[in-house]
Amino acid sequence: MIICRTITELKEQIGLLRKKEKSIGFVPTMGYLHEGHASLLRYSAEDNDATVLSIFVNPLQFGPNEDLDRYPRDEKRDLALAEECGTDIVFMPSVQEMYPAKPLTTVIVNQVTDRLCGASRPGHFDGVGTVVSKLFHLVQPDKAYFGMKDAQQVAVIQQMVNDLNFPVDIIPCPIVREPDGLALSSRNVYLNAEQRQQAVVLSQTLEKASDWLKEPGMTVERLLARVKVQIDKAAETAIDYAELLYYPSLQPPAANAPINTLNQPLILALAVKFGATRLIDNRLLHANEVNVHVQNDDEVKAAPGNRY
Ligand code: AMP
Repeated sequence: MIICRTITELKEQIGLLRKKEKSIGFVPTMGYLHEGHASLLRYSAEDNDATVLSIFVNPLQFGPNEDLDRYPRDEKRDLALAEECGTDIVFMPSVQEMYPAKPLTTVIVNQVTDRLCGASRPGHFDGVGTVVSKLFHLVQPDKAYFGMKDAQQVAVIQQMVNDLNFPVDIIPCPIVREPDGLALSSRNVYLNAEQRQQAVVLSQTLEKASDWLKEPGMTVERLLARVKVQIDKAAETAIDYAELLYYPSLQPPAANAPINTLNQPLILALAVKFGATRLIDNRLLHANEVNVHVQNDDEVKAAPGNRY
């Protein structure tokens, strides 16, 4: 496994791969790797000749009061896990290397960023779009792997790739969870024992909601009201958002629409604060009159070309 800390070193390695006509899979991360990241690396290693992992805590995507300074890091453990997952190249640049000066060119994706994390973290997706564009240009991947844990991010990146003709296939991959259902996240280390127990309410509520939406006459607003009551029952939580939207457009259906008349894929997305720690989770749902069907993980892991 080759470690590149500079753009020059990375370009040299990518040049060698391209010369040998090797296909490149890419997994961008902020490090402090867990089994969620590992699953993306394994998918990539399976599908491509070479896998490139980037580890970069991107200051551009953090707001002024967010956790940039205390974002967890463990380089040694990250490298060991990356190697175990078949990674060929790790790109781990410094902030100075990626942004020698404040960039005057940024990538802003509209509309799909209006709600959810785009609304509660202003500027977040501008930072994501900008860094992912830079990384795509540097790594030149054939395929890039993103977790559906950050479903809005997948929609934003896919939109950017479509609009700007990046020559890369975006591969959305299923959410990896703890045995009790909590979605793995680098931020889970911030939780104390009590908050860790409470946090399971996210996945439990998503699970329950996938049954509730099958009830005859269930509307968007009734479902969301029930979701909020369920989350509020877990003490010490503050709901940032709980929304049911079309996916991947992330536009809202009418609040009074009976869910079984909505003939497009939907996402139920949650962001909840446990103490100072904000966690997100979501579930893709497909509801229609004929057949109410909740997508399973295999269906979520899309084939190249983006099948939601
Ligand atoms: P991050 O390091 O948080 O920026 O995440 C890097 C990538 O890993 C993103 O594509 C995330 O969606 C993905 N990821 C994070 N947590 C999970 C998870 N629990 N399951 C699957 N993918 C994940």
